[in-house]
Amino acid sequence: MKKKELNPGFATTAIHVGQEPDPSTGAVTVPIFATSTYVQEALGKNKGYEYARVSNPTRTRLEQNLAALEGGSSAHVFASGMAAVTAVTQCFLKQGDHLICGHNVYGGVPRLFNQVLANYGVEFTYVDTSDLAALKKAMRWNTRILWIETPTNPLMVLTDIKEAAKIAHAGGAELVVDNTFMSPYFQRPLKLGADMVMHSTTKFLNGHSDGLGGVIVGTKPIHAEKMAFMQKTSGGILSPFECWLVLRGVKSLAVRMEKHDENGRAVAAYLRKHKKVKKVLYPGFTDHPQYALAKRQMTGFGSMITIETGSLRNAKKMLAKVVVCSLGESLGGVETLISHPSTMTHAALGVDGRKKIGLTDGMVRLSVGIEDKQDIIGDLETALAAI
Ligand code: PLP
Repeated sequence: MKKKELNPGFATTAIHVGQEPDPSTGAVTVPIFATSTYVQEALGKNKGYEYARVSNPTRTRLEQNLAALEGGSSAHVFASGMAAVTAVTQCFLKQGDHLICGHNVYGGVPRLFNQVLANYGVEFTYVDTSDLAALKKAMRWNTRILWIETPTNPLMVLTDIKEAAKIAHAGGAELVVDNTFMSPYFQRPLKLGADMVMHSTTKFLNGHSDGLGGVIVGTKPIHAEKMAFMQKTSGGILSPFECWLVLRGVKSLAVRMEKHDENGRAVAAYLRKHKKVKKVLYPGFTDHPQYALAKRQMTGFGSMITIETGSLRNAKKMLAKVVVCSLGESLGGVETLISHPSTMTHAALGVDGRKKIGLTDGMVRLSVGIEDKQDIIGDLETALAAI
């Protein structure tokens, strides 16, 4: 579909951009090009594909689709979200450069920064990026990247993307936003001034918990050039089959996100009224301290909710009783997942690290799925009765 001619809406873009029928057969879905190489017609003459680490037609289609969904000029997919983070930071940072990272982002990101990139002389500062004054103060002459995640995992703290972009640009740095939690359906960071967007496509974009993946969406020719170079050079690319899974998943992104949001609102409202739940972290409450910002930069609230059960003992009791909600890491799938951040996703932060950001042992995180909401709520009712 020629995007310019039709100016399609989000759902139409998701279903048609990059998803055009196969010209050679008319197949309505993009074929899985399971090939490692391409026959050359003659020396120096090919159809634009030479070797599958460099490019693959299924991957090309997915990259066109994801660039369109985020409103970027390029997208490059990698074998996981972390492979995408590795690719973008490795090729845009060199010895002596500085990166500012939100202090409560997905735990794998600081693990990569502190235990791998720091060994190559890259410097890191972790700050509460919701505090714009602290962010400004952390900027240095050598700051090249400002890395934010909004809302954060699992505390649901927002960073003002527009203001963060201004701060980054004033200091000659670029703003990269991990948009995994909201998906482009609810949040478009590039429109707000971000330079690049990163996703773990493993989550909402794929949506079915059946494949890992990551993407970097860029806005400048240099982003496309460097990301393509990293695909070719480091080789951490997404396989054609997994590209196809994401192409299939994004077709229903709009309807899934609507349902995630509807269920998220219902579950959050239910939990807030429950007397055994001490606190509910959810940006869709009008008294969430950043509700106004949430309304300004997001078009929905998503389905990530964190609750305070009061203690590790309570969290364990609750988690032992769930049936509809599955105990597991990850998020963004059609099924409701429930997890215990302090011993699962955020264990690597250590006690002090968790204390610093306010993550307690009593916290339980929900990625509300698209099941019937009364079944999710009924399951939580039974589980909370065990506390
Ligand atoms: N960013 C966020 C917000 C995540 O939640 C995750 C994984 O949970 C990642 C990045 C890393 O993605 P992946 O697991 O696909 O490597």
